[in-house]
Formats: sequence, structure tokens, C-alpha cells
Amino acid sequence: MKRRMTRRDAFFRAAAATSLLCGCGCDAFAAAMEDPENSTRGPPVKDQPLKPIGPHVFMIQAPDGFPTPENQGFMSNVTFVAGHEGVIVIDSGASLQIAEMAIRQLRAFTHAPVIGVVNTHYHGDHWLGNHGFVEAFGKDLPLYAHPGTRRAIDGAVGPFWRDSMLKWTDQASAGTRIAAPNRDIDHGFTLDLGDVTLRCHHYCVAHTPADILVEVVEDGVLCAGDVVMDRRIANMDDGSYLGTFATLDALAAHTKTKIWLPAHGSPGAGVERWQRELFEGIYRSCAEAVKQGVPLEGAMAFVMKDPGVSSRAQETRGWERNIGKYVSLAYLEAEQAQF
Ligand SMILES: [Zn+2]
Repeated sequence: MKRRMTRRDAFFRAAAATSLLCGCGCDAFAAAMEDPENSTRGPPVKDQPLKPIGPHVFMIQAPDGFPTPENQGFMSNVTFVAGHEGVIVIDSGASLQIAEMAIRQLRAFTHAPVIGVVNTHYHGDHWLGNHGFVEAFGKDLPLYAHPGTRRAIDGAVGPFWRDSMLKWTDQASAGTRIAAPNRDIDHGFTLDLGDVTLRCHHYCVAHTPADILVEVVEDGVLCAGDVVMDRRIANMDDGSYLGTFATLDALAAHTKTKIWLPAHGSPGAGVERWQRELFEGIYRSCAEAVKQGVPLEGAMAFVMKDPGVSSRAQETRGWERNIGKYVSLAYLEAEQAQF
């Protein structure tokens, strides 16, 4: 199904001056938690450069992989696709303040209207910034996502991520409201911006059950959300190794991707290979452990014998805190796959 979007009237509302939080940090977090959506706004996020990735694709790269008070939650990349019909945002960042910073960078480059946001999945660093784009471009701004993502954010996942981000950033994200996706999309959904086409892909459970990957067709860029990451591992709790392999196989068959643009880390031709080799090393080792009757407790030592896994430990953000969980999930999935 191909839908053409009409140009929307857009307006840019200058961000209201933000008031800084109480310097002593005393009860401010508790106050924010009492009414997280009406609390004092956290401070602005420092400007980060807008980088060209392809003729129509621009990205603001997050400096870190995980949220801290210092980075104010800026942990995932914000991507813009600019065409004749306007600008589409892919993943809006983890707060109102990050979205406001991204809009400042965009405005230094173009005054074309933002005509929609795509959220690749329901982890909050990919959609909490929706609030900033809705404030700037109107409450009717289309916020596209898989229906599973919309349902999660409308349910308990939305407040969980809003409140967690407040805690992790020592309330730097204060004032961020939940702006849940308002347009359901699925595999095959297409946005035509006149001179550039966005085609959405969804095959099965990969990073989450509801991932949307966005192919920028003319540029050969694949905005992969968290289905691939660049030297980072995190939050596979709802994901699947076999589903990730199936998704990557389908993308290889159905796209002409030259640049993989992950939501974490740097884009490049080799990002998919890096991710696939690590996941294959973990999953293959766990499948072998299951076959040999090695119990779950022994799976980690078994996996780390694979040089394709152990050689990546040093360069991978989130390794120490996540590798144990990654191995457990792979082991359980391999066990299930046996029956
Ligand atoms: Zn994620």
C-alpha cells in the first residue's frame, strides 16, 4: 500500500525558556515523580551536530549508549529524512529536551516542515522525544509506529519509560510528556516525500515483537532501530535471536542496503555483519550447550570460548551488565527451539 502525504502547514514554536532545577537536588526527584508530566522542565540539552548520511538522510548521533545525568538521556540517534514534501523523523530521542535540541539543529539546516515521526519500537529512548515534535509541529502530527508499539506505550510501558528516564538522568528529562504513536503502520507501509521514498519493514519478533525498520530507498540507507546496534548490547528481554536472523535474512533479500544506520553507535556498511556475527556466536554456542546437556549455569563459560564472542567484549558498550542476560535468553530460546 502506498500513501502519499500532503504537505502540512507547520509552525515552529520557539522553545520556552526552561527553568533550571533546584541546584541542591534535594526533593526535586520526589516532586517530579508525584506529577511527572507537570514538573519543572529539565535544562536544555547541549547542541550536537547534524551529520549527513545520504543525500536525504541526516542524523544527530548520541555520544553515549546509556542514560546518565551528564548526558541527560541522549543515548540514541535521532534521524531525519528530508524530501520535497517535508521531513520525517525516525526515532525522536529520550526526552522533550533532546527533541528540542534536534529541532534546533534541523532548523539550522532547513525550514521544511516536519510532517511525521516514525518510532521504531517501544523503548523510551526512541519515542519520549515525540512530545517535543508535537509541541513544535502540532498535536495532529502523525506519529507512526507498529500497533504493538502503540499499545505498549499506551499501556504500562509508557509511564515506566518516562519515570525511568527521570530517575536515570537525575530528572534532566523533567517535563517530558507521553505522546504515544497515533498512526498504525506495518510491513510494506510507504511514505513518498516526492524525491525520496521510505519503505517500512517488519517480519517477526527481532529486538521486540513490534520493530519497524525504515528503508530510505533512493539513498540505500536502512534505519534499523535496535535490530542492529554498533558495538552495544542492551535490552533483548522481549527479543529473539532466531527472529533477528530471519529479519536480517529478509532485509538482505528485499533491500539494497549500503549503509546500516543503527539507533546506537555509528552508521556503516559493516554494522549488520558485526551484529550478526556476535548474535550467531552467542546463539550457536548456546544451542551446542543445550545439545551437550550443559546446564544454564555453564552456558556463559561455553559461550565465551567462542572467539567471535569473547573478542568483542572489550569494544562493546553494555557488555558487563548485559552479556549474562543475553546468554540466558539465547540458551532458553535454543532450548525451546529443540522441542
Ligand atoms: Zn531498544
